[in-house]
Amino acid sequence: MSSMLDQALTRLDDAARHLTLDQDVLEKLKYPRETTKTRLMIRMDDGSRKSFMAWRCRYDDTRGPTKGGIRFHPEATMDEVETLAFWMTFKCAVMNLPYGGGKGAVQVDPHSLSKSELERLSRAYMQAFSNIIGPDRDIPAPDVYTNAMIMGWMADEYASIMGRVTPAVITGKPIALGGSLGRDDATARGGFYLLRHLEQELGLGPNSRVAIQGFGNAGSHMARLLSGAGYRIVAVSDSRGAIHAPDGIDVDRLLAAKKGDGLMSVAGRRDNITAIASDAIVGIDCDVLVPAALENLIHAGNAATVTAKVVVELANGPVTPEADAILERNGVMVLPDILANAGGVTVSYFEWVQNRQGYYWTVEEIHGRLKSTMEAEGRAVWELARARMISPRSAAYVHALGRLAEAIEAHGTQQFFIT
Ligand code: GLU
Repeated sequence: MSSMLDQALTRLDDAARHLTLDQDVLEKLKYPRETTKTRLMIRMDDGSRKSFMAWRCRYDDTRGPTKGGIRFHPEATMDEVETLAFWMTFKCAVMNLPYGGGKGAVQVDPHSLSKSELERLSRAYMQAFSNIIGPDRDIPAPDVYTNAMIMGWMADEYASIMGRVTPAVITGKPIALGGSLGRDDATARGGFYLLRHLEQELGLGPNSRVAIQGFGNAGSHMARLLSGAGYRIVAVSDSRGAIHAPDGIDVDRLLAAKKGDGLMSVAGRRDNITAIASDAIVGIDCDVLVPAALENLIHAGNAATVTAKVVVELANGPVTPEADAILERNGVMVLPDILANAGGVTVSYFEWVQNRQGYYWTVEEIHGRLKSTMEAEGRAVWELARARMISPRSAAYVHALGRLAEAIEAHGTQQFFIT
């Protein structure tokens, strides 16, 4: 079976067919530049010691320091980290952010740890990788099952290792430690601005029906933003199950349930909200399907069941290459991850800029800049897709690869890599 990275690289090959490229460019982008692996050992609350596998991959730094989140997940693997770092390389290039791509992970179920164990693990990660990480070298951020609190602990650890406060070393921090306004809902908001911008072309509008798979940071904010714009949320799921209500679900109730007894607690005959199997959400009757959790949700086995007109990938890699071909044949438009979920890293970039300037922007400024970046790059990708008669995903890769190739060539033959 081919690795996840091999599968992801098929998208690079596909994009390369649409450009005249030097072979050097592909050779440079086909392999991760550097992946560091370590076992983190921490003291548990009961006095015992426990160890966890951890990685940090710097995939490519041609366009700037590597950038990408750290995920805490029991099924994390090195192959997944490298694939996610590859996607970050292209995501930053699509958005024209002055960054390369990176990613990190710890193989752990964070829900099984106490808060102080989680803090020790987060600090241990920074201790182990502090030589690789740095504001001009590699800049982490939150990802699946990590958050502002964890970023704050890591920033604090880095400051104590270096002996100086260095907020630009990590983004997605608490506001009190130099985090940016608007970073918390940035992933969803970027996808939301993109969808609204292309609404007419996509044949969508208020009252369009939306199904959201995953109700974490990205999914829950997307539900709130879309329902605020008049869209109807007809199904949502989380790791425990899914609910379906053809007439729409009140999002405030969902948000309250998320904080309280869990999403599934809103299911009930009186409200016409039914509990359905988690995987049934892919084929639910809707106009927009929003995968907002993990990779490989839509695969060769279920792609043909998708009834949505549009898929907005707030997750990284939720559609496999085989599924992509099926969706394209069936006329389903996919707004690809490296564009649709790039709002997160875009506001991370704003955070890094603010940290370096020591001057902080208003939330209106953040929203305005995010909106114009999403619209400009989204429009460029959309026009490229139309001009070449290719999918938005292929167009996003072509758009990014053009920028990467230009930078690779500009570096010359003795390319400098910050080691
Ligand atoms: N983890 C997010 C992503 O996959 C954000 C990365 C960042 O802000 O650096 O895009």
